[in-house]
Amino acid sequence: MKTEASMPSSAVNQALTKGTCPICSILKDFQWTLAETTEPQANLRMCNFHVWALARSRDKLSRSTPGESVTAVFLEMLKGRHKEKASTGECSLCHRVLAEEVTRLRELAQRFQSAMFVQWMTSQGSLCLDHAPKLKEFVPLRLRASIDQIMERNRSELEQELQIFREQLRHGVHGGGGILGRVAEFLVGQRGL
Ligand SMILES: [Zn+2]
Ligand SMILES: [Zn+2]
Repeated sequence: MKTEASMPSSAVNQALTKGTCPICSILKDFQWTLAETTEPQANLRMCNFHVWALARSRDKLSRSTPGESVTAVFLEMLKGRHKEKASTGECSLCHRVLAEEVTRLRELAQRFQSAMFVQWMTSQGSLCLDHAPKLKEFVPLRLRASIDQIMERNRSELEQELQIFREQLRHGVHGGGGILGRVAEFLVGQRGL
């Protein structure tokens, strides 16, 4: 995942094939690398979400490296002797995620220069309600309607799938709950780790 994140265009290309919002998909992978790449510093500040994400990354990854690096990060933070917990705005991991988001939005916007790509995105691509409006800020005005089209197609596809899922539940079939996660991602974007 580390190499994917550091190779710009291939990360976007790979994410596009996953059938969900490519920016969400990249950020989800990127969040995993934070546990390994955060430099231990006494002045490091982190939000509630990211401190817990790092604490839990130890359980989720069986390799010892993330556990060791998170331990080093936490030790330095304790040595920093902060008097209060950090606010969300101060979190350096949030800042890194936001910077990654802008980089990837720019790359995706560049791909929209190709008419073939726009056509592909309109017929098959995915975007969530968080990233579609953000992407609009990076593409020329004339392409903003295409982004709305992509979003609307995603919305109606998910609506149909959810209707089918509800019918199945009514008939006692409880498999296929993945649709709920995909609807959540469409509505609010990726959740992180
Ligand atoms: Zn997204
Ligand atoms: Zn944060």
